[in-house]
Amino acid sequence: MVQAAQLMESANAMVAVYDQNDRLRYANRAFRDAWWIEAGEEPLWTDLMRRNFHAKRGTVISTPDFEAWLLSTQSRRGKSSSKAFETDLHDGRWVWMTETTQADGWMLCIATDITSIRPDERSLRQDRDNAVKAAQTDELTGMPSRRFVMSKLEELVQNDHEGEDLIGCIAVLDLDNFKYINDRFGHSVGDAVLKDFAATIQHEVRKTDVLGRVGGEEFVLLLPNTSLAEAETVLSRMLLSVRYSRPLPDEASFRYTFSAGIACFTRGEEASALYRRADLALYAAKMRGRDQVAVDPMARSLIQRRA
Ligand code: GH3
Ligand code: MG
Ligand code: MG
Repeated sequence: MVQAAQLMESANAMVAVYDQNDRLRYANRAFRDAWWIEAGEEPLWTDLMRRNFHAKRGTVISTPDFEAWLLSTQSRRGKSSSKAFETDLHDGRWVWMTETTQADGWMLCIATDITSIRPDERSLRQDRDNAVKAAQTDELTGMPSRRFVMSKLEELVQNDHEGEDLIGCIAVLDLDNFKYINDRFGHSVGDAVLKDFAATIQHEVRKTDVLGRVGGEEFVLLLPNTSLAEAETVLSRMLLSVRYSRPLPDEASFRYTFSAGIACFTRGEEASALYRRADLALYAAKMRGRDQVAVDPMARSLIQRRA
């Protein structure tokens, strides 16, 4: 298929492929030119966005806090099998970008130049896109909102997962003694802790997972195609990172913890029942003393039956 490679290389459409770790694995000439990438270079998506932002190249990103923008965008990136949006480039072009993501996290991006298409309706279209994004995002932490996570949960439950051995797990995470933190240090410190929590655990979230804030100090993590053992490993890493986090510069010894409950997807179960099992496990983790993860007893018995 030498011809296919030649055609891609000479196409006007900008084509790129990212792997499950969001590393660029392929980019044709048009894509490399638009986003300033050397031939053969394989940067991480985050590094590529960061260096272009600071050099005022590639995608135009209007934000007062680039790192917060990056974290928020990353938390929603690749979570839908297909996504399309309009964006402008520093070189003056407008592009229509489509992102197609496989279950294993690999993503195909194709951007086409739409500079000459209906420029008069552009701001209208951008307002619409921004409204959709706002509904999908929790304002305080920049993470996916309750609405976004719940719709992903529904998608996972409704997919019949034919031929798949593993469906996946869900975890409900809740900060420990958060009322005390608010009462002792004030609401704004509580908010700072929530932001720190989201940013800290986001580092352990894989591209195929979805983490969102579903309530005051409660978060949900969806882990598709993940075994109970893998889910426990992810959550243990999160417990550890949070234990080491020191979010208050003026209170150097201040630390906080969280508890979590894990349940595994079972075929044909409703989202609400699954959620409830994870929530009951969370309650058990709280009762056992907090700062720990508990597993829904049904998940353990499923494994025993299979073994
Ligand atoms: P537990 O370990 O059992 O979870 O105890 P807790 O104190 O964390 O639980 P509880 O549900 O009693 O308290 C949650 C508190 O979270 C109460 C509420 O004031 C606070 N809270 C909810 N949303 C926010 C928010 O957006 N910002 C801040 N700062 N506090 C919030
Ligand atoms: Mg709590
Ligand atoms: Mg709570």
